[in-house]
Amino acid sequence: MAMSPAEEHPQKAFGWAARDTTGVLSPFNFSRRSTGPKDVSIKILYCGVCHSDLHFLKNEWGFSVYPLVPGHEIVGVVTQVGSSVRKFRVGDTVAVGCMVGGCDECDECINKRESYCRNSILTYNHIYHDGTRTYGGYSDKLVVEEHYVLRFPDGLPMAAGAPLLCAGITVYSPMRYFGLSQPGTHLGVVGLGGLGHVAVKFAKAFGVKVTVISTSPGKQKEAMEELGADAFIVSRDEEQMKAAMATMDGIIDTVSAQHSLLPLLDLLKYHGKLIMVGAPPEPLDLPIFPLLIGRKLVAGSATGGIEETQEMLDFASKHNITADVEVIPMKYINVAMERLAKGDVKYRFVIDIANTLPA
Ligand code: NAP
Ligand code: ZN
Repeated sequence: MAMSPAEEHPQKAFGWAARDTTGVLSPFNFSRRSTGPKDVSIKILYCGVCHSDLHFLKNEWGFSVYPLVPGHEIVGVVTQVGSSVRKFRVGDTVAVGCMVGGCDECDECINKRESYCRNSILTYNHIYHDGTRTYGGYSDKLVVEEHYVLRFPDGLPMAAGAPLLCAGITVYSPMRYFGLSQPGTHLGVVGLGGLGHVAVKFAKAFGVKVTVISTSPGKQKEAMEELGADAFIVSRDEEQMKAAMATMDGIIDTVSAQHSLLPLLDLLKYHGKLIMVGAPPEPLDLPIFPLLIGRKLVAGSATGGIEETQEMLDFASKHNITADVEVIPMKYINVAMERLAKGDVKYRFVIDIANTLPA
């Protein structure tokens, strides 16, 4: 019989887990493996709350396994390193994002695109090499193979920097890969949430012109005055959408729910690119004619490689890019999830793990 999560490894660990599709989180005792030769052990200080955590908690994508400890925007401090670890020392501030392992030998891993490894191991709700389940950052500690640990730049605030580990890399990577980070590009950002608001900040740091496309007119002032967007369109306002037709070189779509793609394709210039990073559980309708006529491209993108994530963190540090965060205690998490589901957060919840996790 398989051992219980609390007994399968030698190190006691504590976090909050959902037990079923209600997604309600509550205290959970489990365990972590001991620090292997290539491992870094981390005391978790902060963990961001991504909309993917909410999709997973409620099994909206259909592959959640309970108990489920979410969290993949992790910042912490190294408490122990294995004998062959070279990059990190005890006391270093480090970060962990969406993956904690991979095959390390496929084309994707060799070419530093680890997030596309077919055997990529997610930080939670996945099976690790040793056959045990992975549990995420809504917990006190984590043991991660050195290769998947990031150096968290000195001077980058920890709580506000944590969301870069998922939200940041998920928007940074496609902007670079699809050639949307050149100065002079006009980029649309759809959905001004956790991903969307950092997309605006990175795009502005690249020297790109940014138009936010949002369902929330109330976000306009902040988007333009504080985040630095050049323009703001309310997607439900046909006149505004019409006026912006055929003006954008690319669009990053961060929307977490059902929405129409045709109005977004219409915003693109000919040969423009619509990049989907939001992950709505249900399929979206994709009209083909606008693609043919304007040779437009629709693509997807999943987080980013480890080296690229480090590059993104260093870039963020250099340009003072962090998320706008509401730091919360662990016990607030179920309310935070209800608020996230309603879009009531500006723009990322981050859990103060170190000070509030112990029950
Ligand atoms: P979030 O903070 O909830 O932001 C999503 C935003 O989408 C909302 O703030 C809202 O912006 C807009 N929106 C929500 N419902 C909408 C609807 N029905 N129609 C139109 N717009 C709507 O979520 P997030 O953490 O940024 O994550 C966004 C999505 O990206 C999630 O599906 C998440 O799972 C996915 N994700 C993907 C990756 C990847 O690797 N590809 C990585 C991380 C997250 P407005 O108020 O401005 O309209
Ligand atoms: Zn995420």
